[in-house]
Amino acid sequence: MTFDVDLFVIGGGSGGVRAARIAASEGGARVALAEEYRMGGTCVIRGCVPKKLMVYASAFPAQIEDARAYGWDVTGGDFSWPAFRTALDKELIRLENAYRSGLVNAGVTIHPSRAVVEDAHTVRLADGQRITAKHILIATGGRPFVPQIPGADLALTSNDVFLLDALPASVLIVGGGFIACEFACILHGLGVQVTLAYRGEQVLRGFDDEARGHVADAMTARGIDIHCHSDITALERTADGIRATATGGAGGTYDAVLYATGRKPNTDGLGLGALGIGLGSNGEVLVDDYSQTAVPSIYAVGDVTDRIALTPVAIREGHAFADTVFKGQVRKADHELVASAVFTQPELGTVGLTEAAAAAQEPIEVYVATFRPMQTLFAGRQDRALFKLVVSQATRRVLGCHIVAPGAGEMIQLAAIAIKMGATKEDFDRTVAVHPTIAEELVTMKSPVRRVGNA
Ligand code: NDP
Repeated sequence: MTFDVDLFVIGGGSGGVRAARIAASEGGARVALAEEYRMGGTCVIRGCVPKKLMVYASAFPAQIEDARAYGWDVTGGDFSWPAFRTALDKELIRLENAYRSGLVNAGVTIHPSRAVVEDAHTVRLADGQRITAKHILIATGGRPFVPQIPGADLALTSNDVFLLDALPASVLIVGGGFIACEFACILHGLGVQVTLAYRGEQVLRGFDDEARGHVADAMTARGIDIHCHSDITALERTADGIRATATGGAGGTYDAVLYATGRKPNTDGLGLGALGIGLGSNGEVLVDDYSQTAVPSIYAVGDVTDRIALTPVAIREGHAFADTVFKGQVRKADHELVASAVFTQPELGTVGLTEAAAAAQEPIEVYVATFRPMQTLFAGRQDRALFKLVVSQATRRVLGCHIVAPGAGEMIQLAAIAIKMGATKEDFDRTVAVHPTIAEELVTMKSPVRRVGNA
């Protein structure tokens, strides 16, 4: 049987674009890709990239304050959201074009259209056109999820923040994960009065308990009003703003309410269920280690599979798929020891096991250092950094590393290489410190603060 193309990719985000490019340029495949919105997907258009630029923008007030402590005669002036947004929009257009030209240069045909799957080898575009493909890759990503409470339509999501005409004076952020904590710090830095409502015991569930407590304390010290054990039961527009009814203290009237209560895979209406492709409880496409679905010609990568919802992971999955199917190099994406960073202020960088997870697995030693970094201490700040290593008593391998400090995202990337290589605590110890840096604490922690489950 002949097909119109060898590969049809649905979704122009990180995973889909990488797979399309490698299949076409290195695998010699005839590739088409459909994207219904803007090329680049969540990461480039409404996620990592604009978020990180907002993180940079939001850090200046504190830096200007600190500059005065260092002898500079400076004042900050006002932040212009419209000026920032104009510059941001220009940068996103540049990146979007770079993604598009990367595909075109690789020989990929782009369809600026929604596409759905009709059968194991056919996709249908919004205008009714049908294209047959030897392989189909679902890379449609995810979207913010807002629980259905009365007034839910009044809530903003992270998608909306980048498109606001003006910043609100006050905001209630609902949720306690990556997005909630990052936007709490960003908006606070930009001068917005921030209240955060989280339903559980402590924000950043899933991260190391000591590290998440440290971040929460730092956020509170900076002036973010965090309410744990708080659930929002209704939203209502009033003359003064949006009134939030809540259990647990976060109730009140705010200029805006931002929901950051998780994300759902984009599988609605794609036609997958009818083909016998399994969907999980969150709507995710079920795939095997090679990103293959129950229909052998159809694969899925990235957030739509709800494995690890991070751009670099989606890229690795897309690349492994293209190598396997189009280059004859059969391989799986590696989901072990994936480092990540939460861009709060201060940042949280993490790789490997939390103390609790490691202790459940085997006897461990825990090394912790907390201190006030030289740069901000000089400026009179009380900010503390936290470095933590979780070490196996039996093998001496570093099982987990957790850093809360300015630049933790950069530091954890480097620590992750050593940990991925299987470094032991003694390997860290025999590495000479770079002085004076914050990161030198990684190699100067002498004695464990505790041993858990002694061997
Ligand atoms: P997360 O899963 O990180 O957090 C969701 C939060 O919403 C949790 O605190 C959760 O509470 C809460 N929640 C869920 N449902 C409800 C509900 N019905 N009512 C009240 N609260 C609720 O999702 P995010 O949306 O923050 O981020 C999605 C993913 O995107 C992340 O997991 C991450 O993989 C990725 N991401 C990565 C970033 C980075 O690398 N820096 C930045 C941003 C996103 P509970 O803990 O109780 O379940």
